[in-house]
Amino acid sequence: PFARDYAGYLDMRSFGGAQVSRTFYSRGQTGQQLLLGAYSALSRQIGAGAVKFFDRREMLDLTVVDGLARGIVCRNMKSGEIESYVADAVVLATGGYANTFYLSTMAKASNATAIWRAYKKGAFFANPCFTQIHPTCIPVSGDYQSKLTLMSESLRNDGRIWVPKKPDDSRNPSQIPEEDRDYYLERQYPSFGNLVPRDVASRRAKEICDKGFGVGKTKMAVYLDFSDAIKRNGKHWIEEKYGNLFDMYHEITAEDPYSVPMRIYPAVHYMMGGLWVDYNLMSTIPGLFVIGEANFSDHGANRLGASALMQGLADGYFILPYTMGDYLARTKFHSLATDHPEFKKSNAEVADRVKKLLSINGKQPVSEIHKKLGKVMWDYVGMGRNAKGLKKALKLIPEIREEFWADAKVIGESENINIELEKAGRVADFLELAELLASDALHRAESCGGHFREEYQTPEGEALRNDKKFSYVAAWEYTGSGKKPKLNKEQLTFEYVKPSERSYK
Ligand SMILES: Cc1cc2nc3c(=O)[nH]c(=O)nc-3n(C[C@H](O)[C@H](O)[C@H](O)COP(=O)(O)OP(=O)(O)OC[C@H]3O[C@@H](n4cnc5c(N)ncnc54)[C@H](O)[C@@H]3O)c2cc1C
Repeated sequence: PFARDYAGYLDMRSFGGAQVSRTFYSRGQTGQQLLLGAYSALSRQIGAGAVKFFDRREMLDLTVVDGLARGIVCRNMKSGEIESYVADAVVLATGGYANTFYLSTMAKASNATAIWRAYKKGAFFANPCFTQIHPTCIPVSGDYQSKLTLMSESLRNDGRIWVPKKPDDSRNPSQIPEEDRDYYLERQYPSFGNLVPRDVASRRAKEICDKGFGVGKTKMAVYLDFSDAIKRNGKHWIEEKYGNLFDMYHEITAEDPYSVPMRIYPAVHYMMGGLWVDYNLMSTIPGLFVIGEANFSDHGANRLGASALMQGLADGYFILPYTMGDYLARTKFHSLATDHPEFKKSNAEVADRVKKLLSINGKQPVSEIHKKLGKVMWDYVGMGRNAKGLKKALKLIPEIREEFWADAKVIGESENINIELEKAGRVADFLELAELLASDALHRAESCGGHFREEYQTPEGEALRNDKKFSYVAAWEYTGSGKKPKLNKEQLTFEYVKPSERSYK
């Protein structure tokens, strides 16, 4: 599905943080095209009888027997039945937990439940605080909003980011002459310009808006302007490259980005943290493999554009088929059935939890409580973090959690499709994970990639790492309900390429 150049070769384009064009793409829908490829490959295997597909099941617990991951417990989302499945190994590919922040670019159904339940069964959770904030999203426009929309990073190849030089300049952007515009990324980073990495572009946008230079009704936005590219190459050229993104922007904002600049603002987009895995993609629970965004590997503290899909393909296609085979070959399995006491226990715990959620019978819709959590996360654990704010978040999160269990209203019953019940279970888990995320952010007293601590920055406002003290993976271990998790440190050793300071100037 990838774009080709005039000669028919695969075309490539640049991404934030890279000065060369080396990424294959499919217009503004690379991810969708890869998904279609993955779906058809899966359907082919289902058709061939190699894969049995269980749709509409939500995994709600991992069952561990004699220290090995031996299966899962799910809720059938149509009938409400709690079902157990025995296995020799379990693979979690359940994605990231950006929706802890309520508003994010992720699908509304993305959640942390599977990895959170595995964490509570003994899988370590690594680097939960590393959060990627994407600079090119459609800004928040009101309290009623339930998600945010990403405008692809590819737009920064041809769009120029600017704000008026005068704060609160209410002129129409087309009436603001060049000399009154601040192309702040081009000014501050002459070599990378608009293509600085996502974390840098996001922080600079926040900074400029916090200083009062933001645009639009809320003043929490900057312009992404294509007028130069249109002048240079014509509207048709832009249409061919980005037409679908421009249409999407138009549908959402009712503004025509061919004639007025887009308004953009950063939003939570990807979580670099996740369950700890070794080089074989196995977690600290033998037999539990974790792939894709659900694990912590590959991206460290930061992630460049296109690397998530690369990781998904590498994990699932090149690594897991071999490492899983190795595990199966050298492990002795006892035969098991779902009447094993551990399965019965998992099953009973899941059923109890469903019952508990449905019996809270409070007054607040689950989404309202989720929104409160999101606001605390964005305000104190978001783009700019500091010790005072993080401590405040660590006080507020347990209070919101208590509010949830005392006053959430979960309507409907369990023996049916019940989206409110599904949502409630996920929000309950976000409310626990949020605390781990904030604690990790507080303990990491440095700025590093997708974790910016305002106390640790250079005089120019760039992230200041402390490699001497923090050059490790923070792998948190669950120690029981209401107890502080234990921090395990996996030291990072660099033999050939030594860590250095990043500069995009
Ligand atoms: C808007 C947007 C644009 C992006 N663009 C790019 C890009 O251009 N290039 C790039 O490299 N990356 C991109 N990313 C990031 C990338 O798409 C994701 O990191 C990647 O899709 C993660 O894949 P995954 O398979 O690990 O998880 P997901 O794609 O999130 O899939 C997880 C699946 O698990 C299911 N699931 C979750 N919990 C449970 C449970 N308890 N039981 C059963 N099922 C469950 C979910 O419903 C979902 O279907 C983008 C992300 C977003 C949000």
